[in-house]
Amino acid sequence: MLEYAQRIKALPPYLFAQIDQKKREKISQGVDLIDLGVGDPDIPTPQPVVEAMQRAVENPEHHRYPSYEGMLSFRQAVADWYKRRFGVELDPQREVVTLIGSKEGIAHFPLAFVNPGDVVLCPDPAYPVYKIGTLFAGGEPYILPLKEENGFLPDFKSVPKDVLKRARIIWVNYPNNPTSATATEVFYKELIEWARENNIIVASDLAYSEIYFGNEKPMSILQIEGAKDIAIEFHSFSKTFNMTGWRLGMAVGNEKLVAGLGKVKTNVDSGQFQAVQEAGITALNLPEEELQKIRDTYKERRSAMVKALEEVGLKVYPSDATFYLWIKVPKGYTSAEFVSRLLDECGIVCTPGNGFGEYGEGYFRISLTVPTQRLLEAVERIKRLKL
Ligand code: PLP
Repeated sequence: MLEYAQRIKALPPYLFAQIDQKKREKISQGVDLIDLGVGDPDIPTPQPVVEAMQRAVENPEHHRYPSYEGMLSFRQAVADWYKRRFGVELDPQREVVTLIGSKEGIAHFPLAFVNPGDVVLCPDPAYPVYKIGTLFAGGEPYILPLKEENGFLPDFKSVPKDVLKRARIIWVNYPNNPTSATATEVFYKELIEWARENNIIVASDLAYSEIYFGNEKPMSILQIEGAKDIAIEFHSFSKTFNMTGWRLGMAVGNEKLVAGLGKVKTNVDSGQFQAVQEAGITALNLPEEELQKIRDTYKERRSAMVKALEEVGLKVYPSDATFYLWIKVPKGYTSAEFVSRLLDECGIVCTPGNGFGEYGEGYFRISLTVPTQRLLEAVERIKRLKL
């Protein structure tokens, strides 16, 4: 008899299964579906990055096994970018590791620092990998609810003492998926102080740092004094440079934390294709205008969609970062029920908030990663919705 291992059996149920089933039914009925469910940019990767890859592929040096921790030239480019963008100094040899997409690093990190029975403090609603990586390492996720009244920031000071004693890692992610919330410097300062007092590793997921629309750019947790004693930060090329398919990211910060993750990786993968890292160097050095164009596109889409949603009486969480909208479902609906209505009456696919954890119930998420024309069509359909 073939039997799944306990860690697979223990995975939370797949909450999107019902939506996927409905989506398939609608498509087979010929409905013109607009999919605002996934956070996968529709805008192509900038041309200079594609050309850098084309050139790099021709180089036989890149056809062999890459180095486990990543090319030094790539890690140097990451360190230079952190210095330019955040004013943070990193030693490329010891404080940067190349990832095969940030998901890979996030999932593997607990294997280096969590023993069976240890606790990992995981936000909810959230990107599901924090919890799943914890479970795979034999750890226990302890849920930190993200509530609107707290600006979707976790109340880490409320964690009971007995849990705190067993806690090894706290995950934070700002600008946040799915709520689009951002964190303040005060929040990060208090978090680092508390983590140092309680000897808890801070793992910051900064995947959306470059998708911002206000005057204040999102910050890196490593900008906080003392953060490098206790923190690691995960970053991704996926959202910043429209490179989801390329699988490139990095983890930076405390030397021991980076080395621990590197140790796991050395034993389970053999690094990212060097040609992809060469393309990454080009991406990190793109002119600012290139990235501003991407932000402008999302900004325009965001305003059009927020206006349409407000016209039909829906409440969008106000934010000036990420390409997600986090919206309250109208009174009397669950997240799943309302998302079903949008699918049935508008042919629009959205993600129910409870798909990101129990505290996401009562909300749904819209992703602005479809061509503007399609998004405007979605806007028209939503305006006709009678609530
Ligand atoms: N972190 C967050 C918050 C995300 O939303 C995603 C992807 O959706 C990732 C990390 C993973 O990004 P990647 O593995 O493509 O670098």
